[in-house]
Amino acid sequence: MKIFVDQVKCQNHGLCAISSPDHFELDADGELRYQESFDEENIDEIEDAIDSCPLQAIALNRDSA
Ligand code: SF4
Repeated sequence: MKIFVDQVKCQNHGLCAISSPDHFELDADGELRYQESFDEENIDEIEDAIDSCPLQAIALNRDSA
């Protein structure tokens, strides 16, 4: 599974990084960095991050390895 963040929508709020600090973080410049791929066992954390994004900028592709 893979995450995709729409960089046009994303305004670097960082709420996703609070919900899922293992996969999302804001770098020293305040820009979002994230891990594209993740394991099935982390799906709950990823879904929390998706739900927490006020701009619905995070998409999940379940078909990608
Ligand atoms: S919560 Fe949404 S808008 Fe904020 S940094 Fe994460 S993806 Fe971007």
